Amino acid sequence: MNENRIRLLQKGISLIGPIVYWMSRDQRLKDNWALNFAIELSQKHQQPIVIIFNLTDDFPVATLRAYSFMLEGLQEQQELANKLNIQFIIKIGKPEINIPSFVHQISASNLISDFDPLKIKRFWKREIAKKINIPFWEVDAHNIIPAFYVSQKQEYGSYTLRPKINKNLMIFLDEFPELEKQKNSLDLNEEAIQPDKILEGLNIDRTVPIVSEFIAGEIYAEQILFDFIENKLSRYNKFRNNPNYNVQSSLSPYLHFGQISAQKIVMELYKRNLNDENAKAFLEEIVVRRELSDNYCYYNQNYDNFQGFPIWSQHTLNEHRKDPREYTYNIEDFEQAKTHDKLWNSAQIEMFSTGKMHSYLRMYWAKKIFEWTVAPEIAQQIAIYLNDKYSLDGRDPNGYTGIAWSIGGVHDRAWFERPIFGKIRYMNLNGAAKKFDIVQYCNKYNKMDM
Ligand SMILES: Cc1cc2nc3c(=O)[nH]c(=O)nc-3n(C[C@H](O)[C@H](O)[C@H](O)COP(=O)(O)OP(=O)(O)OC[C@H]3O[C@@H](n4cnc5c(N)ncnc54)[C@H](O)[C@@H]3O)c2cc1C
Repeated sequence: MNENRIRLLQKGISLIGPIVYWMSRDQRLKDNWALNFAIELSQKHQQPIVIIFNLTDDFPVATLRAYSFMLEGLQEQQELANKLNIQFIIKIGKPEINIPSFVHQISASNLISDFDPLKIKRFWKREIAKKINIPFWEVDAHNIIPAFYVSQKQEYGSYTLRPKINKNLMIFLDEFPELEKQKNSLDLNEEAIQPDKILEGLNIDRTVPIVSEFIAGEIYAEQILFDFIENKLSRYNKFRNNPNYNVQSSLSPYLHFGQISAQKIVMELYKRNLNDENAKAFLEEIVVRRELSDNYCYYNQNYDNFQGFPIWSQHTLNEHRKDPREYTYNIEDFEQAKTHDKLWNSAQIEMFSTGKMHSYLRMYWAKKIFEWTVAPEIAQQIAIYLNDKYSLDGRDPNGYTGIAWSIGGVHDRAWFERPIFGKIRYMNLNGAAKKFDIVQYCNKYNKMDM
């Protein structure tokens, strides 16, 4: 395994005891470098591995929709782990308390976690590090090329990250080892994960219903991938900006919860020698744009607020602050899809009722929130709130970056100056109408319940 994927967060003293993998962002066993590293350590020290997942209902915008999807996936993980003779336990509460306490309870020798650039996850890790004195490792199992390795600074845009990715990609597309049944296991009396029972006890927002469009788990995620490669990829380049054509992969919820590995997806394309314009367009999204989002959130702690925007963008937005708006709406109007614009309302309904919005409309949706809100800061907060609340793939670096791109010109360039937007790229209905049949899209989603 490429050792540049691993870094030691805190040295500590290595005792004799089990290896703990605290699974967080990468909720899968297969194709997971963090678990592979835990297995390597377990073989080296001849100690068993335990996987612990900590569930907290403190997470910002915790909804029934997201928690149900996640727990269904974790239930599957536990069953798969048991087949490998690995204990998989779930704790409920604060990770910064539960993880150190578990480490002490079983006298663990090493703690391994996966990588996440978001502030809350970094806070948890800092707090955990203060409370333990064994080696604490971090493995980037999410990015193909680890975010802390590929670049040491915030990149300006895809054009500056792409060459760094291209230089390293083949080196990091190394084969995943096969998972084998482990010889040793701890007997911790793990409780079987029962999603409904756990959900009952959580203090979460139950107003966001579970959706039937996405079935959780790594087994299902693989089926979605193969279906995409066989039935959609050949039309990806031409139709991916058309929400009436279902040619996108729909993999983002699975990628977000780590139920599938981006590296595996890319390797499946390479295995089939797919390198036409469709494969290239898809690789640009799943590798460059996705890893650029992690880069932005990792190196810019203001990824979710106005201060994160580039200086030219802050400047132009400030200059146009007082421009009159033809329409202004508050958060309730947006949430209930009560704007004057049928396309916007339909996109909001799509997100509410299916758990995901089409990529093209996500840009339009965020830019219109900005246009119809009294200030860019408020627009950004509304867009983050709604995206995180209703999208299964929300609460993700891609979401914070996509919204910062739409409203704050992050990773974009300055355009012709115009009212409200200043030099931020503008989108309007005419542009959408040139890409797809708006009436067809609106008819589909306006019929759905909110
Ligand atoms: C305002 C706004 C909000 C967004 N919110 C989210 C979000 O919460 N979660 C999320 O995962 N993505 C988000 N995106 C990025 C993108 O729209 C989604 O990744 C895409 O819609 C996911 O659908 P898919 O898996 O079918 O995409 P596909 O076209 O099949 O792409 C495959 C994968 O490539 C990556 N990808 C595609 N487009 C982008 C992009 N522009 N930036 C970064 N990675 C990309 C994703 O991981 C995606 O799953 C947002 C974009 C915008 C403009």
